[in-house]
Amino acid sequence: MGRRLNTYELPKVHVHAHLDGSYPREAVLRIARRRGVPFEFPETFADVWDFFDHYGRVPALIEDLEDLAVLCEELVAVAAAEGVVFFEPAIEPQLYAPRLGSIDRVTATMVSALQEAAAKHDLQVGANVTINTDQDAPLADEIARAAIRRAGDGVTAIGTAGFHEPADYSPYVPAVRAAADAGLQVVAHAGQVEGRESILAALDEIGATRISHGVLAAAHPDVLARLADEQIVCDVCPVSNVALGVSPSLREHQVAALVAAGVPVTLNADDSLWFDHGVSDQYSLVAVNLGWDAHALADVARNGALLPALTEERRAELLTGIDRWASRDVAGQP
Ligand SMILES: [Zn+2]
Repeated sequence: MGRRLNTYELPKVHVHAHLDGSYPREAVLRIARRRGVPFEFPETFADVWDFFDHYGRVPALIEDLEDLAVLCEELVAVAAAEGVVFFEPAIEPQLYAPRLGSIDRVTATMVSALQEAAAKHDLQVGANVTINTDQDAPLADEIARAAIRRAGDGVTAIGTAGFHEPADYSPYVPAVRAAADAGLQVVAHAGQVEGRESILAALDEIGATRISHGVLAAAHPDVLARLADEQIVCDVCPVSNVALGVSPSLREHQVAALVAAGVPVTLNADDSLWFDHGVSDQYSLVAVNLGWDAHALADVARNGALLPALTEERRAELLTGIDRWASRDVAGQP
C-alpha cells in the first residue's frame, strides 16, 4: 500500500492495559507537581525488576479517591480517542487499599469512575480485577469478592499477574473459581517470562480462557496448537515486550508466529504511561515492522469480537466499523 495506515480510526478493543501503568503522562506529572514530588520517565529499563520499581511510584503518588477517580476518567477519554470500542483495564485495588480505603471502597471508586466515563465517551468499559499471585490468599479472596459484587455491572474479568511464572496457583483457585462462577472471564498473565509451563498452568490450574501476553508460546508448537484449537485469545503487547526484553525486536516479534498458527490475538499497550505508546501505535508499528497490510490488521482487530464481555451492540459496532475501515484504507480513500 505504501502509505501509513491510520490505526487511530481502526475500531478495536483494548484489554491488556494496567490502570496504574496507563494514566496519561500529563495527569501523573500534574499530581506529582502538586505534591512537590520530582517525577520522570526513564527512556529504558534495566530489566523487568527495574520496571516494577518504577511502576510502584505512581500508585504511591495518589493521595485520595478523588484523584483516583479523575485518573480513571482521563484514561477512558484516551481510549475513546484511540478508537477503542471496548476497554477493559486491569485494576488492582490492592495498590491503593488500605491506604485510601478498603478493597471494596477502592474497587467501587474505580468501577464507578470508569462507568461514568464510558457513558460520557460512548464506549463500553469493563474491568479486569487482578489478583497478584505474590500476595496472600485471604487478600485474593477479598479482591475476588469485590469483583463478584460488581460482576456484569462494571466488572468483566478476574485476572492474575505476578512476578513468578508459572505461579503457584493453588492458594488462588477458590477466589478465581468463585469469580468464574459469577460469570467473569478468567485472564492470566503467562508466557511473558516463562514459556510452555506458565501457559499450561494458567489453562489447567485456574481455567484461564484468555492469556495476557502468551508470546513465548511461539517456541512451542504444541502450545500454539492448543491455544488455536481452544481459541484462547492472547492479549499481546508488542512495544512492552521489546522494552522488557521479552521480544528481541518488533521485526522479530512472536506475534507473527501466533497469528500464523491461528491463535486469536489482540494488540495492546500494557503500560502506555511507561512505554509511551498507545494501543493504536501497537497496530501501526506491527504493520510497519511485520509487513502487515490493512486486511491483516483488520483480521487481528476482529479478534476483539471473541471477548464474551462485549454487548451484542458493541460487537456489531466493532465488526462493521472494522470492515468500513479496511475497505476505505485498502481503497485508498481519505
Ligand atoms: Zn500485563
